[in-house]
Amino acid sequence: MDQCYGGIEAGGTKFVCAVGSHPDDLHKESFDTTDPQQTLTRAVGFFKARNSHRPITAIGIGSFGPIDLHWDSPTYGFITSTPKKGWANTDIVGRIKASLDVPVAFDTDVNAAALGEHRWGAAKELTNFIYLTIGTGVGGGGLVNGKLLHGLVHPEMGHICLPRHVEDTYRGNCPFHNTETSYSCFEGLASGPAMTERWGQTPQSLGDDHKAWYLEAYYVSMAIVSYVCTLSPQRIIIGGGVMKHEKLIGLIRHKVKEMLNDYVQAAALLESIEDYIVLPKLGHNAGVVGAIELAKLAAVDSR
Ligand code: ZN
Repeated sequence: MDQCYGGIEAGGTKFVCAVGSHPDDLHKESFDTTDPQQTLTRAVGFFKARNSHRPITAIGIGSFGPIDLHWDSPTYGFITSTPKKGWANTDIVGRIKASLDVPVAFDTDVNAAALGEHRWGAAKELTNFIYLTIGTGVGGGGLVNGKLLHGLVHPEMGHICLPRHVEDTYRGNCPFHNTETSYSCFEGLASGPAMTERWGQTPQSLGDDHKAWYLEAYYVSMAIVSYVCTLSPQRIIIGGGVMKHEKLIGLIRHKVKEMLNDYVQAAALLESIEDYIVLPKLGHNAGVVGAIELAKLAAVDSR
């Protein structure tokens, strides 16, 4: 039998825990993200129960953020300045490590999902690509030159500032980025909760031809054009709850082409944009499968 690894997709709304070794060998459980004590106790309980059947070699955590990824920092492994109630300054890695005594790898939820898609999904063989999520929050991660993208901290692709559409009077729901006159951030304008607040109804209840989808495609495309021009990704994968609206991906492809206006001379953009901007192949499992891939890296590092 393959080695067994643990993965946690730590989301602001939901935690998904799994053990296994690949997408077809997964035992998982998901539960609501409540307070840190209760949520992490439940995660530890899940792994302890499985560990007795099949020992877990290492655990990977893909977490909502912002998080501290610097090994030499006193708050390495913490969720840091999140506005999510009760979760600021939570030592998530320390808690898991102390309770389960295995190597633990830690990264952003979107970097984990990128890793999952790289190993098993829509980004196989690629060395430069982006994974975006558009749901309760907006975020992005990915690989640059074959490595997960880190730096000063980690990418915050959901908080790039975008000019508001001339007809959009909504200032966005990000408490950090919402000027009175002209711009807000991508997440503030385009997350699921932002759509709900702007239109007075949830994205799921908006009709197919509602102008909300055209405005959503406008903001997502503007962000994508910036990423194409700065990071030159070979593919862009977009997951998250808002993308469940089937028509949206087509609107985004169309708008990205229009905004780039054939300036970037690459066949992927000029001739086959439907293979360039894609949905995750692993679907809603991308994050937790990626967390298991992170665990494999932790197991190698600790040898
Ligand atoms: Zn923001």
